[in-house]
Amino acid sequence: MSDKSDDPIKRVEEQLKKCVKCGACRANCPAFTAFGREPAVARGKVALAQHILKNDLELDDGTYEAMSRCLLCGSCVEKCPNDVPTDEIVIAAREALAERRGLSTFHRAVGQVIKNRSRMKMGAKAASVLGALFFRKIPENSGLRLRFPLPFIGNERHIPQIAAKPFMETHPEIIPGEPGKPRIVFFVGCMTNFVYTGIGEAVVKLFRHLGCTLIIPRGQQCCGLPGMSGGDAETVRSLAESNLAEIEKFDADYVTSACATCGGALHRLYPLVVGKRNPDLRARLDVLAAKTVDVSQLLAKMGLDPAKTGGGDKKLITYHDPCHLRTRGITGEPRALLRDAPGIELAEMDGADRCCGLGGTFNVYHYNSSMTINEAKSMAIISTGADAVATGCPGCMMMLSDGLKRNGSTVEVVHTLELLARNL
Ligand code: SF4
Ligand code: SF4
Repeated sequence: MSDKSDDPIKRVEEQLKKCVKCGACRANCPAFTAFGREPAVARGKVALAQHILKNDLELDDGTYEAMSRCLLCGSCVEKCPNDVPTDEIVIAAREALAERRGLSTFHRAVGQVIKNRSRMKMGAKAASVLGALFFRKIPENSGLRLRFPLPFIGNERHIPQIAAKPFMETHPEIIPGEPGKPRIVFFVGCMTNFVYTGIGEAVVKLFRHLGCTLIIPRGQQCCGLPGMSGGDAETVRSLAESNLAEIEKFDADYVTSACATCGGALHRLYPLVVGKRNPDLRARLDVLAAKTVDVSQLLAKMGLDPAKTGGGDKKLITYHDPCHLRTRGITGEPRALLRDAPGIELAEMDGADRCCGLGGTFNVYHYNSSMTINEAKSMAIISTGADAVATGCPGCMMMLSDGLKRNGSTVEVVHTLELLARNL
């Protein structure tokens, strides 16, 4: 338990006062779409957090459940006339609940896995073997595949194949570039390392094409965001500290990630959860945040000419904005790169800026609601008639694939960089 000055709910006391209960945050709130009840929307979360602050609310399962009904998508923040940062408030409230009630069994298990690299690697290896044994033999559209039961994951989801070899085991720690060109730390992230290794390959190809030195620190770990979904700030703080120490070893010009969620953790979440507890660590994290840029921003900054990369044989592409890029204002760069790549025609979908329904572990905890939210996204993608949907987050890719397959669609799901690197 933290001392009074560290109390997470106290951290947002001033922001809580700014809510005037106008309800403008209802528009576009995916949790409200799924649950249709006031406690699911930002105004309800703010009211709940005010009671947690006043300590006049029983912190029972109902309170915990109500606070879990948020995808931290930030749509409400964009709609709020008073700039109430509901996503930060929900993070603080979850942290306070975890401190006062303890973590749920599920989130305790998540914390144990994400802060232990060898445990995570072992899990991925087991999943890759099991995937090979069970899934490859089952046709893509088989009812058995649709209903294969997995613990914590639900009965009807399409899960992506785990890579036979993690991305980080296929490249050296330092890939030297041309003298005088920037040194870039690549924060890989778990989904790229264990599942979507093609994204990592695209990063390597594109930055080699630009002559940059690419550094893939061996000791990097999970960014910690899955822990934050359940209020496990201790795990996030410990991962922030170890990832920071690992990145600092290389004195890079930039730190980049092809995962919107990991980039968001390095850029915004780490300074937020460390707050005033540890001023030295906070100052170092602020330096890290200033150096952290999304791959699409960095490629544009480095002068990548998409005309020289080639977009492959896909013609019509639609783009989905990951929440963790949109809330950092990164919406134009990926579109510009795609628009300028040969062979690509960009078709905007309705609600490209709407959440896909993932929301960290929300998708596991509230799978059916998550898929209800995803349904509109799948329909919007299919309506464009696009050959593929591109995005900047492997988590969104998993969610989009799941939704599209459930709807019988064959629209390909790709990372923006995979399209750009396809012909290099
Ligand atoms: S829009 Fe902002 S001020 Fe209005 S109810 Fe929602 S959080 Fe409160
Ligand atoms: S962050 Fe997203 S899901 Fe959570 S209350 Fe705001 S709009 Fe709703």
